[in-house]
This record gives sequence, C-alpha cells and structure tokens, in this order.
Amino acid sequence: LDDLLDDWQAGYQPPFEGIRVIGSRWSPHTHRMKDLLARNQIPYQSLDPESSDEARRLLALVDTVTPPLPLVLFPDGTPLAAPSIAQLAERLGLHTRAEKPFYDLVIAGAGPAGLAAAVYGASEGLGTVLIEREAPGGQAGTSSRIENYLGFPQGLSGAELARRAVTQAGRFGVEVLRQEVVGVRRADPYRIVTLADGAEIACHALIVATGVSYRTLDEIPGMARLNGCGVYYGAALSEAANYRGQDVYIVGGANSAGQAAMYFASYARRVTLLARSPLSKGMSRYLIDQLAAIPTIRVWEGASVREVHGGDNLTAISLCRPDGEPYDPGRVEASGLFLFIGATPRTGWVGELIE
Ligand SMILES: Cc1cc2nc3c(=O)[nH]c(=O)nc-3n(C[C@H](O)[C@H](O)[C@H](O)COP(=O)(O)OP(=O)(O)OC[C@H]3O[C@@H](n4cnc5c(N)ncnc54)[C@H](O)[C@@H]3O)c2cc1C
Repeated sequence: LDDLLDDWQAGYQPPFEGIRVIGSRWSPHTHRMKDLLARNQIPYQSLDPESSDEARRLLALVDTVTPPLPLVLFPDGTPLAAPSIAQLAERLGLHTRAEKPFYDLVIAGAGPAGLAAAVYGASEGLGTVLIEREAPGGQAGTSSRIENYLGFPQGLSGAELARRAVTQAGRFGVEVLRQEVVGVRRADPYRIVTLADGAEIACHALIVATGVSYRTLDEIPGMARLNGCGVYYGAALSEAANYRGQDVYIVGGANSAGQAAMYFASYARRVTLLARSPLSKGMSRYLIDQLAAIPTIRVWEGASVREVHGGDNLTAISLCRPDGEPYDPGRVEASGLFLFIGATPRTGWVGELIE
C-alpha cells in the first residue's frame, strides 16, 4: 500500500488554487508583478499566453474582450488587469494607509537598516511607522543565502531574514506601510513626509533608509531596450525558475553576483559569471571557493558586455575586454543576462533637506 501511495503522490498534481499572473514572460510589467508577489512571499502561478493553453483558457473567461496584460487573477475569480504596484499591493491586502496622522518616528525603507531602526525605535517606546515601497528586506531580501549575518551560523535566505525581522518589529508595535515616500519638508519641530498617493504623515524624526538604486548599463547598445526582456538588474529570485535548462550570464565581480551565480546554478544548464577584474578583488573568499566547486559555473575574468542582441527578447551578447579590445569568444548565445554591478544612494526624494 505504501508503494501505491508513493506512486500516486509522485504523479499527482493538485489543481493550483492561488493567484495567477498571466502575461508574457518577456514583459517588464509582468516581471514587476511577479517580483512583488515573490518578495512578499505570496505564492503564485505564472502563465504565459504564448505557451500555455491554461493561460489562453483563463483569458477567454475574463469578461473583457482582450484584457490588458498582465492579468492578475485571484483565487475568487476576480481579475486585476495591468495593475500598478500600489493597486496590486492594495488588492493583496497589504497595509497601504497609515493608521495615525503623527508618529514619533517615520522610517523610509524596510531593508535591514530600516528594519533594525524600527525594532530599536519601537523597543524604546517610540510610535514607529516603517514605510516600504516594494517588500520588506530590501536588497538583502533578494539574496538567496546570507552567510555572514550575526547569529545565523548556517546562513539564511534573505526572505527568511526579512520575515523574522518583520515579525520582531511587529511584536514591538511597529506599523509597516506599503507605500513610496516621495518627499519630505520641515515644519519645525516636525517633519512632514509625503507618500505617493498624496497622503502626508507628520513625525518628530525621519530616518532615511532607502538604500540604493542599481547602477545600470543603459549606455551599452541594446541594454535599455531589452531591460526586463531577458536583461535584469538583481532579479535572481523571481526569474531563476524561468531559466531552467538554459544558459545564463551574470555580470559583476562582488558578492551579490557570486550569490546569484550559486542560485542560478540550481536551475540553469550553465551559468557564466562575467567579471571585469579578478574575483579576488571584490568577492569574499568563501564564495569564490563555492563557485569553483560547481562544475556548471564558469568564471570569465576580464570580460565586459559590449552589446546585447535580440528582437522582443535577449538572444545573444557581444563581449569585449574592459579596455574595448576583443574578448574570445566575441559573441555568445544567451537568453538571460543578470546584472549585479553596484548601486548609488536612493535619496533624490529628500531634496535639499540633508546638508
Ligand atoms: C543579491 C544580493 C545579495 C546580498 N548578499 C549579502 C550578503 O550575503 N551579506 C551582506 O553582508 N550583504 C549582502 N548584500 C548587501 C546587503 O543586502 C545590503 O548591504 C543591505 O540590504 C543594505 O541595507 P539597507 O537597509 O541599507 O538598504 P536596502 O536593502 O537597499 O533597502 C532599502 C529599502 O528601501 C526601499 N525604498 C527605497 N526608496 C523608497 C521610498 N522612496 N519609499 C519607500 N521605500 C523605499 C527599497 O524598496 C528597499 O526595500 C546583498 C545584496 C544583494 C542585492
């Protein structure tokens, strides 16, 4: 009987009953929807109408003739056509409106810095609201494995770190708001923070913990056009499963690129890390050793991207040396290029307030 049950279990695929995201695999908008769901640990199924009968069947059931894509279909059958991040967050029941007009402490950004500030502020009795535009965890939340965080000797995923930190903040009464902070002004002794929906929150103190924006390589021919269509900035977690059995290229020579390579290796047929300089200049030793131990990962030091090619989506990458001299090979076929090339502070919204 046990054998029969095992056989049945191995072959049985229960019908999926969660959220479905129907849209082209190559659409940047679809990618943003999937990213929000993945980073908030909300299970979903991704269906591409080009390749999935189920996607076409579901689209035919929706009341509009041709709903704009991506279409997010909820378990109760209600659709949300081409929503913005804020609309999807609201529909998911994520908290988007502040409960009070005034807080002792407002923290913009719920990466590790914002989360830690929230825990310490609230544990000292400050009325604290933590405002995050995407998902708690920030950059760290997108990491597949963090091995150098104090107190976790076996390492832990960024998502798990974020989940634990949010729970801890919640226990101290921190309110977590899903909104974008777009501005701040002084009205001494207060600071007035403006949110993307126009709402304002007053506070005694504002902590800016909005992290960084990824540096882009838009000056490289093809890069801006194919962004979100095979070219991605720091999107290992949400895209990895789409690259099962394919060739993936990663640009970057620091830890985030190394971790992404490790993560993609569980899905892709081959992962190639393109680094301008020797890895020893920017990557931790433990990670260099881990990369070297995986046969499907290769590291090409001294390689830069010269151009990316493709119609609707990435199909090939031209390479060169960092000084523009030819690299061998000069051109490789690729369906995924993931860039982890550093970042600059994301503080434009603060304006002149910081001296
Ligand atoms: C893939 C990857 C792996 C990494 N692995 C490691 C590792 O193993 N060990 C390690 O030490 N470091 C690692 N890092 C680096 C580490 O994650 C960062 O140093 C850390 O996340 C920085 O924290 P932060 O809170 O300052 O900023 P961030 O993590 O960047 O968080 C900022 C947050 O602010 C939000 N935000 C931005 N603007 C606004 C706005 N206007 N309104 C509201 N919210 C806003 C963002 O959405 C984000 O959630 C990794 C980074 C990446 C990308």
